[in-house]
Amino acid sequence: MNAFYVTLISFNAFCFLAILLSGIRKEQPHFIGLACINILLLSFNLLSLLLLNTTDLQRAILLSKYHLSCLIIGIPLYYYVFGKWSKFRFTRQATIASAIICLPLLAYNLLSSFSLRYGEAPVLVEYVTLFGNLANVLTGQSNAYSAILHVVSSVMGLFLIYCSIKLYRQQLTFVSLSLLLTMLLQVSFGYTGYILDSQQSTFVYFGGLPMTVMSIFTVLNIAYGYSRQSSKLIIEKKHRDELHELFEQLARLSNESGNEDFFIDSTRLLAGYCSADFALLGIIDKADATQITTKVAVKYQETISNFTYARSGTPCEDVLKTGACMYPENVDVLFPDDQMLSDENIKSYVGYPLTNENNQPIGLLVLLFKRTLPKSNNLGIVTDVFATRLSAELRKIQLEEELKATAYIDYLTKLPSRAKLLHVINNVYSKQRVNDTNSLLLLFDIDHFGEINSKFGYDVGDQVLKIIGKRLNSYTSHSVFIARNGGDEFAVLLSDIKESVDAVVKTHWTAIKAIVSSTYLIGSRKISVTCSMGAVLLPHKLDEHFDIIGSAELALTVSKKDGRGHYRFFDPQLMSKLSQNRNIELALIEALNKNKELSVHYQPKVNIDGKLVGAEALVRWTSKELGFVSPADFIPIAEETGIIYQLGDWVLRRVLYDMLSWREKGLVLAPVSINVTASQFDDESFAEVLLDAINSFDIDASLIEIELTESGLLIEKERAIAQLSILRGHGFTVSLDDFGTGYSSLSYLSALPLDVLKIDKSFVDGLDDVKDRELVKTIIAISKSMELSVIAEGTETKHQVETLYNMGCELFQGYYFSKPLPAAELCSWLPKT
Ligand code: C2E
Ligand code: MG
Ligand code: MG
Repeated sequence: MNAFYVTLISFNAFCFLAILLSGIRKEQPHFIGLACINILLLSFNLLSLLLLNTTDLQRAILLSKYHLSCLIIGIPLYYYVFGKWSKFRFTRQATIASAIICLPLLAYNLLSSFSLRYGEAPVLVEYVTLFGNLANVLTGQSNAYSAILHVVSSVMGLFLIYCSIKLYRQQLTFVSLSLLLTMLLQVSFGYTGYILDSQQSTFVYFGGLPMTVMSIFTVLNIAYGYSRQSSKLIIEKKHRDELHELFEQLARLSNESGNEDFFIDSTRLLAGYCSADFALLGIIDKADATQITTKVAVKYQETISNFTYARSGTPCEDVLKTGACMYPENVDVLFPDDQMLSDENIKSYVGYPLTNENNQPIGLLVLLFKRTLPKSNNLGIVTDVFATRLSAELRKIQLEEELKATAYIDYLTKLPSRAKLLHVINNVYSKQRVNDTNSLLLLFDIDHFGEINSKFGYDVGDQVLKIIGKRLNSYTSHSVFIARNGGDEFAVLLSDIKESVDAVVKTHWTAIKAIVSSTYLIGSRKISVTCSMGAVLLPHKLDEHFDIIGSAELALTVSKKDGRGHYRFFDPQLMSKLSQNRNIELALIEALNKNKELSVHYQPKVNIDGKLVGAEALVRWTSKELGFVSPADFIPIAEETGIIYQLGDWVLRRVLYDMLSWREKGLVLAPVSINVTASQFDDESFAEVLLDAINSFDIDASLIEIELTESGLLIEKERAIAQLSILRGHGFTVSLDDFGTGYSSLSYLSALPLDVLKIDKSFVDGLDDVKDRELVKTIIAISKSMELSVIAEGTETKHQVETLYNMGCELFQGYYFSKPLPAAELCSWLPKT
């Protein structure tokens, strides 16, 4: 028996500690209350042990008083602990009420000379217990107070049964059952106590046992809770790790965003994670917003063909109208019109909208399941993350498309831009290789467009381009692609040509000329324009180094040089010529800047006796890179690129310097002629620069002759006359070089104030030809009538000299007399003072 009680006491002590610690840890006051009950139980069982072993009546009465006190103190505690545990709304009130009732009972029990339980005349009775040993039990008549105590205990018992029901409803089944069991034990052991008290049976008193059992169950429950919590934590961690891995994979896919696979891979990744039977990435049709077309469709983790469906009557409609939706069960019943749901036996649905930058839905991400979804799941969060990422990617693509669209349209003419032209050329390339047809690129621009801009302003220039753009737009067809290449340049790409290429170019050139070359009325201004064109045939073999637009541009440049208003085909030789010219240009600039490689030679001009009458200054250039370069090659390039001004200035100063050094050597100076190009002559400051130079070298203007070609004089007649007059007024002589090769009319030339005519070498060469001879005769006659001196250049033979002399030409220049000579060698030709 003693061992039984010691065991109970040990359990009480253990439960006290376990429950107290758990209560403190979890900050649950009702657990701390339960721990206190265990202390009371411990005292109760200890007192029971002492009581059963006592033979002294007075001691037994005292022990019995304490014994009962433990019970009375326990009552409010029970109300508090189980009321709180079962979340009884009036726990506080019930605890206080029970305490108020119990306090007088406790006071009465402790203060009176007898134990409340056994009345005023208890007796100690000895009996043999269930365990076979002797024990003493106190018996007696209980009074009215003990009846109150029984009522209070019974009400408490009912309350605890109520609590067990509440706990059961809160799914705390284990606790609820243990409490119920405790109550059953309490009732049965109460009955044991009653038998014991009255009939001195062999039972030991088990009063402390039920609540000890309850405490043990509580401890077990706490331990079970901990183990459940830890396994819950393990599962939660596993989910967290999986989620982490999922988002990491999504982030990895995002790094490769920009390609279509991103959408497929992301949707499949999501479907795999959620074990969805279907995953759809749908986009609202731009043409018909009632339809959705899938961009990605995944079934059992594999992509299937995309399809279009009407959104009406489907859960997708809800998603697009109200936002994210989740139907964890019976979605097929809720949406009976959705064919796919019933066909595929779909039970649950998760849908998230995909939105544009204004947060408007543009599509949706959908997961479909053939199973019912658990109540708590993270599908919503996961799908939301994916939908957000996919929306961002769709926005990026849309933005890129918009940017591409703007880059592909020329803002001014609204024609396709150069970027689009390049794109179309690439497409045409690949097509013509398959179709075995020809394609042509025609590039044309407006002649003297710069002048329109500078004369009338850029606004007017823009207006002209706009009108041309509009007109060209109507010329576009499926095989005629027209774009603005930039500036005043337009491109016409002709593909699928099966006829003769020449005939096609001619036809289109005629049409383009008719479209562009007309008079434009802008405001009150009438502007007439013409155009020139370059054409190139697209090669059949794609050559990375072949620049199609560049070739057409080159052909256009050449066509302009040839005299505007017509077209020219690209010739590969033009290309090498172009790069050669560029090399000459760069080397010439360097030679001028470093003042090296250049020199001036002088070719004597003589009379019939071979006596020097003057000399022509001819520039010479022996380039380190290119070797000897003829002025006939580099002068036109210098003229074209504007280097001629620097070069002309250099030659002039070199000539004046040489003349100065000849004079210093005591030689009599002969007049020296300097060649001047059209643009040099056209320069308003030309005469001034010339004057400044001769003044600074102290050379007389009469010793300088200016050689101009006919083309140099083809500027406005009045301007040419004025410029010539100025030069002649200052004492310079002016000669007309290469006479007879140009197209200027004699009436025009006769109006110009000139001094000398130089018969071109080509006529001298053709003197044996009757026609040429007649022409030379006429030139000499005209010059005589105009009182001009005549000189024949390129005279190489005695025969030529004699023939010309007989015709009336008295001055000569040519290899027959001398080649152009370095300055030092000309000294021998100059007489001494
Ligand atoms: P140009 O002014 O008509 O010069 C005469 C050209 O005929 C020179 O060629 C000269 O060397 C060449 N020549 C003279 N006599 C004979 C001959 O009997 N037989 C042959 N076959 N040729 C003869 P060059 O020096 O090659 O000059 C070519 C052209 O380059 C010049 O034609 C001139 O227009 C231009 N040029 C030369 N130097 C200058 C210069 O300093 N400034 C400018 N602006 N042009 C220059
Ligand atoms: Mg000349
Ligand atoms: Mg000449």
